[in-house]
Amino acid sequence: MEQRFYYSIASGSSGNCGLYVAGDTAVLIDLGVSLRKITSALAEVGLTLGHIAGVLITHDHIDHVKGLPMFLKKAEAPVFASHDTALALSIKHPQAKERLHTFAGGDGFTVGGIAVRSFETPHDAAGSVGYILEHAGCRFGFATDLGFVPGEIARQLRGCEAVVLESNHDPYMLQAGPYPYPLKQRVGGPRGHLSNPDCAVCAAELVKSGTKTLILAHLSEHNNMPELALEQTKNAVRGLPPCRIVVAPRERMEAPIVLTEEEQCSLFG
Ligand SMILES: [Zn+2]
Ligand SMILES: [Zn+2]
Repeated sequence: MEQRFYYSIASGSSGNCGLYVAGDTAVLIDLGVSLRKITSALAEVGLTLGHIAGVLITHDHIDHVKGLPMFLKKAEAPVFASHDTALALSIKHPQAKERLHTFAGGDGFTVGGIAVRSFETPHDAAGSVGYILEHAGCRFGFATDLGFVPGEIARQLRGCEAVVLESNHDPYMLQAGPYPYPLKQRVGGPRGHLSNPDCAVCAAELVKSGTKTLILAHLSEHNNMPELALEQTKNAVRGLPPCRIVVAPRERMEAPIVLTEEEQCSLFG
């Protein structure tokens, strides 16, 4: 069986970047850290920038695109972004314009051996999206930076063998925490970030639909704790079919999460 794995290179408000590999296709999702960090993570798994078939950008917030200018300089891979995200990026980085492959939220396209489908996310960045990546009948979902999980997104994620899902904050920690009131409103609002309890509800639905691996991501440094996020979601899936649940750390993961160890990907959805 061809290998499939996910390697979180950075996750959280200080930077987001992940590597998904399926068969001989390697894709980066977001470029929110320095190129140096990206190349050193790639080297850990025996890859270089030259192996990257494409980059999927979720939106133009700095924690997702910090490494983009340097990436464009040093790498050749196409960078995919929604029309509105691409517009915002080309204003900030005119050199990006030529290199961006744009699509409408909801559109699908192909990167190497992976069929990609985008979906619009409720977040305070124009053109913000998440992705489903499909390879050999197995689907991998990526949904961070969303204020809530609309039914349509839950439906699209159903049956993915693995999903990277935001578990940003504990609502009580957010309320009691150091953020100024307007920022608390933004983070906790419907176009902000997904809370632990909302993540847990979605996680339970995913596990029922056949998801075998959940990667909790984009945890807030100030308004969350990894143990808290993990506990909420573990409680929500208790009694359901077995599912591996891990937290993506702020810095890169110790080792990639191998998805092909599972006997077979889910055939649901
Ligand atoms: Zn973010
Ligand atoms: Zn964002």
